Amino acid sequence: MDNEKKRSASFSKGLLQSGELYQYVLETNVYPREPELLKELRDMTATYPRAIMATAPDAGQLIAMLLKLINAKRTIEVGVFTGYSLLLTALTVPEDGKIVAIDMNREAYEIGLPVIRKAGVENKIEFIESEALPVLDQLLEDPGNENGFDFAFIDADKINYWKYHERLMKLVKVGGIVVYDNTLWAGSVAMPEECTPEILREGRQRTLEFNKLLAADPRVEISLAPLGDGITICRRMH
Ligand code: SAH
Ligand code: CA
Repeated sequence: MDNEKKRSASFSKGLLQSGELYQYVLETNVYPREPELLKELRDMTATYPRAIMATAPDAGQLIAMLLKLINAKRTIEVGVFTGYSLLLTALTVPEDGKIVAIDMNREAYEIGLPVIRKAGVENKIEFIESEALPVLDQLLEDPGNENGFDFAFIDADKINYWKYHERLMKLVKVGGIVVYDNTLWAGSVAMPEECTPEILREGRQRTLEFNKLLAADPRVEISLAPLGDGITICRRMH
């Protein structure tokens, strides 16, 4: 197995009909276009415990495209881990872009920080070590933050996704985008509960509930893209 294969095997996030097809997408479309430093951060993360949590590179590629399409400048990131999606965002937003990045664990962020520094984009990042919900509430206390963000990427504790959504519907402007990660939960959303491995069951339940609420929310247009572990793109309409 060459290095690229080994690296992606350790990710194994694809939900496409075969592993080979997912490999094909990664090798022909994603890896050749992935910025060098992002690749470096992905490699560093692969040796770190819980590396599977990092955003899948194919999902990342779509996120970067969305950021570009809406010219996102001010963004929110909930769930930083070692910073794959954060570095991706920081490389994509303009020089005067600002990212509020929240994670209750700074330790993993420190792993990726040298690469973020090397990329020269640390100035765009405000990292806040905290539970996310109180930070979002605090942001809302300043009226200047209402409708003040163009984009948010949510990739933390699934139990709070709906609570994050309620806050983001005020923080992100009309026409802005919120992306939720892991909305297919390793494909378990379509498995009967009794066939679902124990380790996936709680997350499966949370994801089912969240997806249902989102699908019924008239404030957003949605699209669930089966990239990585499933990402749901929401565009705030009003
Ligand atoms: N987007 C990241 C992966 C995030 S993994 C990447 O691309 O690599 C999920 C992260 O959410 C973990 O780092 C975890 O510490 C964080 N997290 C979990 N619950 C949280 C909460 N309630 N508030 C803030 N961060 C949380
Ligand atoms: Ca994730």
